[in-house]
Amino acid sequence: MTTALIGIGSNVGERVKNCQSAIALLKDKVTILKISSFYETEPWHNTKEDYFVNCVVEVVTLLDPRRLLDILKVIEQKMGRVDTGKWGPRVIDLDILFYGDEIIEESDLTIPHPFLDKRAFVLVPLSEIAPDILHPVIKKTATKMLSELKDTSSVKKLKDTFED
Ligand code: AMP
Repeated sequence: MTTALIGIGSNVGERVKNCQSAIALLKDKVTILKISSFYETEPWHNTKEDYFVNCVVEVVTLLDPRRLLDILKVIEQKMGRVDTGKWGPRVIDLDILFYGDEIIEESDLTIPHPFLDKRAFVLVPLSEIAPDILHPVIKKTATKMLSELKDTSSVKKLKDTFED
């Protein structure tokens, strides 16, 4: 069993409900240990886009990282995600942030997720549920990365609990 951290985001339609639906679909495939609060966050790069809702979940799984990625992609497709480009609007976005302490650098899979140390919308919910997680490349905890963060984009807590 491996502990993995998954980042979830949505900026189209009923954003909180979209994140909750993704968590419900994830529950069929992995064991969920923790769910962060939901945060409304400013979009990166494209400031004309709508604000996102983001959260992070901690799971344990027997799935290997590639199989886990496949499952995340199936959930994205099931939820009607259409390809809108790298920074485009999205009904749901699911990213593997950490998979144990593994380091993977392949063309279509990078773990830990690239630039997670630069993004408030990842580090704020991550630090809430896994403050001591150690980035295996940067060798800093989530709390330390958050304390050194230069990203000043807005991250506002929306909901304390997950209700399904
Ligand atoms: P995105 O637009 O953020 O949903 O990125 C989608 C693509 O990023 C996927 O097709 C994956 O192959 C690739 N990718 C690379 N590393 C990761 C990761 N750690 N988690 C999720 N997707 C990843």
